Amino acid sequence: AQTIGIIGGGQLGRMLAMAAARLNFRTVILEPQADCPAAQVANSQITAPYGDPVALAELAAACDIVTYEFENVPVEAAATLARNVPVFPPPRALEVAQDRLTEKRFLNDCGIPTARFHAVDNQADLEQALADFGGQGVLKTRRLGYDGKGQRVFRSLADRAEGAFAELGNVPLILESFVPFEREISIIAARAIDGTVKAYDPAENVHRDGILDTSTLPARIGEATASAARESAEKLLAALDYVGVVGIEFFVLPDGSLVANEIAPRVHNSGHWTEAACAISQFEQHIRAIAGLPLGDPSRHSDCVMTNLIGDDMDDVPAWLAKPGVLVHLYGKTEARPGRKMGHVTELTRSTG
Ligand code: ATP
Ligand code: MG
Ligand code: MG
Repeated sequence: AQTIGIIGGGQLGRMLAMAAARLNFRTVILEPQADCPAAQVANSQITAPYGDPVALAELAAACDIVTYEFENVPVEAAATLARNVPVFPPPRALEVAQDRLTEKRFLNDCGIPTARFHAVDNQADLEQALADFGGQGVLKTRRLGYDGKGQRVFRSLADRAEGAFAELGNVPLILESFVPFEREISIIAARAIDGTVKAYDPAENVHRDGILDTSTLPARIGEATASAARESAEKLLAALDYVGVVGIEFFVLPDGSLVANEIAPRVHNSGHWTEAACAISQFEQHIRAIAGLPLGDPSRHSDCVMTNLIGDDMDDVPAWLAKPGVLVHLYGKTEARPGRKMGHVTELTRSTG
């Protein structure tokens, strides 16, 4: 059997390993934390830091293909690996997605609109950028932010910017103009090695405390908005000569037009519903894409709502299990810390057939 290496041992790696097993692939997880969610279901784990040269050589030797489940894999590590074994998505996608400034420039170069932005490398840059945006904007660390961490919102000129650069850690930042969105959507799309692209229907996403709470299908958007999301995905995937699944988050403006927020060069939390409402999940689609197999049909047989189980939401599991038409998926994490993603549920609300 062929072996797939997965860098990163969280729930996304776990769900990729489960999908891989169903298609007869073996999986090896590279992850420093022992007994991680992915290793519980994979064939083996290399327990070492992501950038460790000995571990990377071992991974390349053990695998026919390598992929990753999070976007902060060191680019040099991915590039080194790619000299010895196919690495999908291409390391260039990591490079683009790791830095919000590079990411926004790349999106704009592809003809995909984003919020306006300024690079902020010190407190003076911040004050100048805020003045340009009339005192409103979202200040974010360029790297390593997730679940809304490393961000600060400025609502008006009355919001004092004093000390904000230092408060976010004296690291390179970006100030984005504040987007007055009506709702948020995301699209999950896959590109095969031969360039074929298949996209799932866009999901409508609601966040709670900066963390994705629900993804609902269908999104309350018109056909023109859905097409625009698909077209953006096609442009981006072609520009990166991408192979695998990507997630793209968008803001929807009141007139239905889209502003891209960010991209994830991997399977995405807002695509978890696909395992319950489509014949082929985003996880299987990713495995198919990177293994050179035909992409599956992304059409949706049901409307649905995916809800994340965060921290003590785990207490609700018995009630979810008792409800008909609900698929419960837990990640094997023993300690339910606040803000920690423990699992998700997808409730099928209506058949589209
Ligand atoms: P994720 O966990 O999705 O990776 P993240 O930490 O990378 O999140 P973003 O997606 O950039 O953060 O922002 C989190 C949320 O903050 C967005 O989904 C949106 O609700 C709000 N937000 C971010 N940027 C803007 C903006 N420029 N204008 C208005 N709202 C914004
Ligand atoms: Mg993000
Ligand atoms: Mg986001």
